[in-house]
Amino acid sequence: MVSKILIANRGEIALRVLRACKELGIPCVVVHSTADADAMHVRLADESVCIGPPPSRDSYLNIHQIVAACEITGADAVHPGYGFLSENAKFAEILEAHGITFIGPTAEHIRLMGDKITAKTTAQELGIPVVPGSDGEVKTEEDARRTAAEIGYPVLIKATAGGGGRGMKVAKSEEDLIEAWSTARTEAAAAFGNEAVYMEKYLGKPRHIEIQVFGDGEGNAIHLGERDCSLQRRHQKVWEEANSPALNVEQRMRIGQVCADAMKKLKYRGAGTIEFLYENGEFYFIEMNTRLQVEHPITEAITGIDLVHEQIRVASGGGLSVQQEEINFHGHAIECRINAEDARTFVPSPGTITHFHAPGGLGVRVDSGAYQGYKIPPYYDSLIGKLIVFGRTRVECMMRLRRALDEFVVDGIKTTLPLFQDLVDNQDIANGDYDIHWLENYLANKSA
Ligand code: ADP
Repeated sequence: MVSKILIANRGEIALRVLRACKELGIPCVVVHSTADADAMHVRLADESVCIGPPPSRDSYLNIHQIVAACEITGADAVHPGYGFLSENAKFAEILEAHGITFIGPTAEHIRLMGDKITAKTTAQELGIPVVPGSDGEVKTEEDARRTAAEIGYPVLIKATAGGGGRGMKVAKSEEDLIEAWSTARTEAAAAFGNEAVYMEKYLGKPRHIEIQVFGDGEGNAIHLGERDCSLQRRHQKVWEEANSPALNVEQRMRIGQVCADAMKKLKYRGAGTIEFLYENGEFYFIEMNTRLQVEHPITEAITGIDLVHEQIRVASGGGLSVQQEEINFHGHAIECRINAEDARTFVPSPGTITHFHAPGGLGVRVDSGAYQGYKIPPYYDSLIGKLIVFGRTRVECMMRLRRALDEFVVDGIKTTLPLFQDLVDNQDIANGDYDIHWLENYLANKSA
């Protein structure tokens, strides 16, 4: 059993984990940079440690400082949240070497899924469907031409070390192929220090559907259904929903089972998300995230399972609290990511929140560290909160979302709330009829 947890993160997710620790009666410590001394997670914590100046590399990414904070406070476990060090295999190893539990998978599994070519090969070996593509790295022009001819145009060149939607190039035909391939390599080398690229069939109108999985590390694993995260801007998710408007029960249970079986074979430990593109009834693996996701609350809403409790339980050696047969999927949930950004230009808008009122009522959850008088620092990502709404049906969920958005007040800064007010009234959204390009097209038409 872990006896004291250090939360190595900030913002809404630090607060989210803090809440779970309090519910479980586990003492916890939060860390913060000098820019976050007034943050809500620091105010609500039993204990806090300042680990450095504002830039992430000197604070939230500073492994030495975090390990020292554990030693000073006697924390014997670390919850990494998402982002920052959550998918850093070295961090997991260093903690282990200090006798501190990393609340997440093994360093080996983080590494396996961190490299995209290895992840894809592993997924395929575990029986997960993948996008048709190259057999590993595409090293030469000759390789590129042969592979593209085999899989058929258009093709996508992707960096094996890529992330955040960067390092991808589309080639529509043989004419653009070599240029796309060599630019992708150059960009990958510059951005990730690794020029290795691979090739995939480019899917035209897919949805982004991801499966939440959980393993106990001993060969037992479950799935918690899917989330549809197709509404994206620059590969950043904006609106997520569960269940996906595109899947029926049989499809859900079939792909879920494939993923759970794969995690059993891998002896995966903790929470994970297997991401797919979905087109014409087929699933194609794109990557696996070996951590808690931003959008995990919609899964919590439709299953009633607290994913952070479950993470802590598994990390403590207590195994999973539920079996597959016990999981009931009920109702519908939508999450809107509220960013401190202009809703039209998406330019960040840090500053002081002069007035803050969060919506409430049945089926409404707001995960946010924001409050009246809070000064949003300019150093970190612009997510200031998440609005999660639940309804018995998708229609009820949308009606509730509309009224929750009407109640939400954030003054003093610009936010993406107006975007959601538009989306909730849109006919395609009401019909659940959208793919991964829908939002970009919608925004382009609106500004034209
Ligand atoms: P990253 O780790 O950079 O987020 P992913 O492999 O998850 O990279 O892909 C990010 C996004 O790029 C996907 O959500 C999708 O929008 C697009 N994408 C990736 N692979 C393909 C593909 N084969 N065809 C079409 N779009 C793709």
